[in-house]
Amino acid sequence: MHDSPSRPHDMSPDEFRRHGYAAIDRIADYLAHPEGWPVLPRVQPGDLRRQLPGSAPEQGEAMEALLRDYDELILPHTTHWNHPGFMAYFSITGSGPGILGELLAAGLNINAMLWRTGPAATELEETTLDWLRQLMGLPAGLDGTINDTASSSTLYALAAARELQADLKIREAGLAGRPDVPRLRVYCSEEAHSSVDKAVLTLGLGLTGIRHIPTDDEHALDVLALEAALAEDRAAGIRPLAVVATVGTTSTTSVDPVAAIADICTREGIWLHVDASYAGAVALLPEMRSVLDGCDRADSLVVNPHKWLLTPVDCSVLYTRRPDLLKRAFSLVPEYLTTSDPDDVRNLMDYGVSLGRRFRALKLWFVLRWYGAEGLREVLRHHLRLARFFADQVADDPQFELLAPVRFSVVLFRFRPAAIASEEELERLNAEVLKRLNASGQVFLSHTKVRGRYALRLAIGNARTDRHHVEDAWRLAREAAQSVT
Ligand code: PLP
Repeated sequence: MHDSPSRPHDMSPDEFRRHGYAAIDRIADYLAHPEGWPVLPRVQPGDLRRQLPGSAPEQGEAMEALLRDYDELILPHTTHWNHPGFMAYFSITGSGPGILGELLAAGLNINAMLWRTGPAATELEETTLDWLRQLMGLPAGLDGTINDTASSSTLYALAAARELQADLKIREAGLAGRPDVPRLRVYCSEEAHSSVDKAVLTLGLGLTGIRHIPTDDEHALDVLALEAALAEDRAAGIRPLAVVATVGTTSTTSVDPVAAIADICTREGIWLHVDASYAGAVALLPEMRSVLDGCDRADSLVVNPHKWLLTPVDCSVLYTRRPDLLKRAFSLVPEYLTTSDPDDVRNLMDYGVSLGRRFRALKLWFVLRWYGAEGLREVLRHHLRLARFFADQVADDPQFELLAPVRFSVVLFRFRPAAIASEEELERLNAEVLKRLNASGQVFLSHTKVRGRYALRLAIGNARTDRHHVEDAWRLAREAAQSVT
């Protein structure tokens, strides 16, 4: 029941204020002690579902009841990405200023499809992305837009890449039923993220439309193998469309040789997209800026502030030198969306599949301003130091080994007692170590495979993770290892 029947179509301002303060108090209390929860909830699939009614209430409920259920049902069934022991996948973090930016954007509830439907959202997006570009040392003239995820950003980049092959007239005639269109192909390393494969699928190129290039000893794309693949495909009548290089691959955080790949793309007349979703942020550090060497020549680059730049999910930035081609791929203006605004105003609906655009720039603006470049650099350096510290512990213990160089904030390692040489046995053992480690509720690590070898994967990326959390993770890993032998 509404407790303010005089304004039945929304909460009254007083009610909103009261419940809003209560919600903010909850967030503040939660963020003060996320480690009060186990990182991974001790629940089974379906547990929450069974506790929820099968249909929506006919009569409105009191906000108190909703907040109580948030406390009693939602929090206990949540995987706590805010927990300082969350060290799985790419550990991420929101932040106070980012959360407040998100809250204020929700209050405005604008839909920035056109400049006129969201002048502040449109122009703030242009401004914050230009600030971020400068902070990352990327060249002037790159045009940025914010998408939900890196998967969308890469999909859009590859759609623009397809438009670069203007003679194919794909915008006009599509691909289906056209004997005049050769097979088209995108190239990336075997370590590239599966979002590249998904983009290729979505663009209608099929699974044969992607070729995974072998990697070298450092898990980086092998340039000679790329050249050979391109030559072989051209000889077979296949038309290359784009190469996707990765700066900071998901599994091992390897860095592809972007400058050499840029040479090849220039020679071939094809698009170079760089996936720097995770590691691009580290270019804010002058001493790490070389990770983006060659990226000044990329046609497009994606970096996710929601991964390692303290911005709440979701916020993925796509930069491109060719906004004209991005628009060629996606711009379509029905009569009801035409305006008399000048031609050079940006209408965000022109840069991707979605018509509507959230005001994501507000939270990024808050983050960039509240931390300042120095504050962000401090967090990044802290994370790099923590990963290095953990790697040093692993390297010093004869029963463990590192499985890849530690370039950024991720450590790949495994338990390797001298008596065990079989890869199958080591995999079984380490999978059990991971299971016991994660059952502690104090940490959550994930795993991967490095050249077929099962690796435990520790990723630092949370604003609340400190040295003692990493010490705990190492102690727990050793205890779990002793308990399985
Ligand atoms: N690219 C890389 C290198 C990633 O590691 C990931 C996810 O971790 C992605 C792309 C996909 O990210 P998103 O969830 O933003 O689509």
